[in-house]
Amino acid sequence: MDENEFDELVSSLTPYESADTVTTYRNTVSISCPACGEPFDDLVVCEGSYDSLELSKVLDLCVTTVDDEVLLFTHQH
Ligand SMILES: [Zn+2]
Repeated sequence: MDENEFDELVSSLTPYESADTVTTYRNTVSISCPACGEPFDDLVVCEGSYDSLELSKVLDLCVTTVDDEVLLFTHQH
């Protein structure tokens, strides 16, 4: 994904949580995941060289990158 696509995507999402280098956005408007085409629940942006996520649920994940950042699109079962 390029930066323009990323900026456009994030502008439609609701910021939810930010901790250090990890930011989570809520997809409240059912935007389609760019990887699989299904609406995703959250977008998690990881900006650190190494980031760890603690997941409280079993999630399907789709992944892409923008520059050095990793984007995770979460899908709940
Ligand atoms: Zn997906």
